[in-house]
Amino acid sequence: MSSLDTLPPLRDVIRRHDLSAQKSLGQNFLLDLNLTARIARGSGPLEGARVVEVGPGPGGLTRALLALGAAQVVAVERDRRCIAALAEVSEAYPGRLQVIEGDALKVDVRPYLGDGPARVVANLPYNIATVLLVGWLSSDPWPPWFSSLTLMFQREVAERIVAAPGTKAYGRLAVLAGWRTQARILFDVAPSAFVPPPKVTSSVVHLVPREAPLPCALRDLERVTEAAFGQRRKMLRQSLKSLGVETMVLLERAGVEETARAEEIDVPGFVGLARALADLRAAG
Ligand code: SAM
Repeated sequence: MSSLDTLPPLRDVIRRHDLSAQKSLGQNFLLDLNLTARIARGSGPLEGARVVEVGPGPGGLTRALLALGAAQVVAVERDRRCIAALAEVSEAYPGRLQVIEGDALKVDVRPYLGDGPARVVANLPYNIATVLLVGWLSSDPWPPWFSSLTLMFQREVAERIVAAPGTKAYGRLAVLAGWRTQARILFDVAPSAFVPPPKVTSSVVHLVPREAPLPCALRDLERVTEAAFGQRRKMLRQSLKSLGVETMVLLERAGVEETARAEEIDVPGFVGLARALADLRAAG
């Protein structure tokens, strides 16, 4: 999209700043500004929005977010080589882009954000994408500081995030995501859209936090899903034994069939198990 902004094409930026992609940093860059604009728009209208971006790289998605009207973009980038390239974007949008050089797994972006809701939009480095997502989904307090997450994953991970009970992809990630958010796949992106192209198709996922997830403690939900999906082919009366409480009492209290298997239990079912676990532990 030549009219997105007046900055040089991304290929020139990459050449000038010698940003040859590094596999260890999960670098697969998007050079088509039409596509980065589509991802940015997937997060909703951007006029006046505050956005956190992880891994801006040479700045393709960053430029789209700013050109489409984001009031503030806070971008965390680990690769020092990208910082000078991003400074040029910053100059083109005075006062609207802050680049933090650091590890997104460690940086707390909240102090950098102005007042009002913020959203996260990112073409994530695949090697830490799931860890980052689980971190955001585990935010305390809930509802969290972000109003939505619009994130690129490998298609297989995206399917695990939005999976329904009874499917092969359904597991711990789908339960956590489904408990705390409404998640859907917006669209797929072919490997050929990236430089260098990854081996697999990617998907953009949009997650919106639920205001009031069914009440239970995150840690208890993690315990039951870990036990249940740790032995996903076994019946729950067997797989939940590792929880250290009377399994049959736990299942009865939660109203779950003892012969059911993990992948048949929906999110309310797992929440029921988490609450029953908490009750039984409290009862000693
Ligand atoms: N947003 C750019 C785009 O769409 O072309 C780059 C996306 S690339 C898939 C992932 C980016 O995340 C790279 O720029 C990489 O250097 C950066 N990155 C990798 N690990 C990171 C980390 N731990 N913290 C912050 N950024 C990281």
